[in-house]
Amino acid sequence: MPGGDDMPVDFDGVEITDSSTMAGVPDEFQRLWTPHRMVYIQNGTQPGEAECPFCIAPTLDDEQSLIVARGVHAYVLLNLFPYNSGHLLVCPYRHIPLYDEATPEETAEIASLTQTAMRVLRTVSRCDGYNLGMNQGRIAGAGIADHLHQHIVPRWATDANFFPIIAKTKALPQLLGEVRAAVAAAWPVA
Ligand SMILES: [Zn+2]
Repeated sequence: MPGGDDMPVDFDGVEITDSSTMAGVPDEFQRLWTPHRMVYIQNGTQPGEAECPFCIAPTLDDEQSLIVARGVHAYVLLNLFPYNSGHLLVCPYRHIPLYDEATPEETAEIASLTQTAMRVLRTVSRCDGYNLGMNQGRIAGAGIADHLHQHIVPRWATDANFFPIIAKTKALPQLLGEVRAAVAAAWPVA
């Protein structure tokens, strides 16, 4: 793997940068693919560390932010730090930390976007199951505890499926872009 832990690296001629300030929930797990280190194509806006990535994401275009669908009160994006390929997050636009602070409208849309995400993932990735959930508070494992987000992680009985096959053969920045495009294309028009 090229580059040291904190060094920008050149990846097939594409300038890439550390992803620590981008939207996503960092964790300690290794990924199914290499490079293990999370990288992101440098494409303009780089949020400061003090800013909330889930507040910034909707201000960017969908390709930059990895957003796959935008609702009225909440939106869906690909997790930059996926547990599994196709790992989605549903976030309210409003910067609230806890589920019980969501309005009825936000709660309903987070639920309906979660259901749609399941159907879309079933269609595009033929997953066999899902893990759904919210980590509430840093002590409970929330990587970005200040902005509510619902995880939707597709699961497969075997690894003989579309996303991991791509994942093993392509660089992560390409992979994330391709997965985002596939999910966005399959998302039903409201
Ligand atoms: Zn926020």
